[in-house]
Amino acid sequence: MGEKKGKQGKPRSGKGKAGAKDADRRVGRRTLLIGGAAAALGTAALARDKLGHLWWRLPGVEKPRVAGAVDFRGAQWVAASAANWRRADRPDDYGIDRVIIHVTQGSFRSAVKVFQDPGHGAAAHYVVRKDGHITQMIRELDVAFHAGNREYNERSVGIEHEGFVERASSFTDAMYAASARLTAAICGRYGIPLDRKHIIGHVEVPGTDHTDPGRYWDWDRYMRLVRKASTASA
Ligand SMILES: [Zn+2]
Repeated sequence: MGEKKGKQGKPRSGKGKAGAKDADRRVGRRTLLIGGAAAALGTAALARDKLGHLWWRLPGVEKPRVAGAVDFRGAQWVAASAANWRRADRPDDYGIDRVIIHVTQGSFRSAVKVFQDPGHGAAAHYVVRKDGHITQMIRELDVAFHAGNREYNERSVGIEHEGFVERASSFTDAMYAASARLTAAICGRYGIPLDRKHIIGHVEVPGTDHTDPGRYWDWDRYMRLVRKASTASA
């Protein structure tokens, strides 16, 4: 689950050495993307809505934002309060190379409710329910305040799971399966390696005092399911 309000809500003001390096890399990548999109348009005259399905490959200014749109097929859209995330243009302004696994420490319903609360100051992109239902509350384009670390918020997609870290029964077969499909899809979109360096728990975020997903989260099983889901969709 997320952090206290005010810790990470402000936009980045200046860029250090690493930031400058990132900017160089982005320019190169963006040029390639524009070239690719232009070539596709020239040869196939693809309909704009068709391109819209590949939004994460488009240069930032072209990315369509449709009310109620989700990034994962089958997810249900419920908007988080705008106070709990920051508008961005990922993966062009910030590259995405991490998926961060959370546990809500409460019911699905209560997690959705607090993410809609502007006073909460935190929210994740997705919430996975015990029965495998997935709700998306923040677009992957945008920076969700879920990791308690600005850099990790900017580079990651956050997935909450209904349940309690100290309750093994929280983590159901349906939840693991649905979450693994979601993580596999996210990793496929951004080219994130399917390993434990890139798919991490909140507890592994530098500087965090959070312990989720906790000792009952079965990482071996989860990673196996993610790889399987990735192979199945490829
Ligand atoms: Zn967490």
